[in-house]
Amino acid sequence: MSESIFSKIIKREFPAEIVYEDDELIAINDINPQAPVHILIIPKREISTLNELDESDAILMGKIIIVAKKIAANKDIAEDGYRLLVNCNKNAGQTVFHIHFHLLGGRIFGWPPG
Ligand code: 5GP
Repeated sequence: MSESIFSKIIKREFPAEIVYEDDELIAINDINPQAPVHILIIPKREISTLNELDESDAILMGKIIIVAKKIAANKDIAEDGYRLLVNCNKNAGQTVFHIHFHLLGGRIFGWPPG
């Protein structure tokens, strides 16, 4: 399977605005933002969809949520609120098959989502 665009970004083979990085995760500004704050939090290990996760990934997934809340605080959207979501496969509109959490904030979001 060919490498995802996010793996290329992680290896610095493709540019991105990096807002956070550690050994396991990277967070970048979305190239096509849907809100004033739209950041993608991505595990460095390429996992294509949520369906591929198992129990051994629980700590990694939890870490993503903790990093998301820290970024939200840093971006000053924590108090007003934000949305953290993952699209899985075609019905959700997943377009990049390398798991990523969308952190969206800076505006009001509707519910239910369209
Ligand atoms: P999905 O639809 O898979 O949940 O979300 C993929 C997201 O990745 C989209 O919001 C899209 O704008 C973003 N994206 C796709 N290619 C790139 C890229 O090359 N750089 C960045 N920063 N974001 C990208």
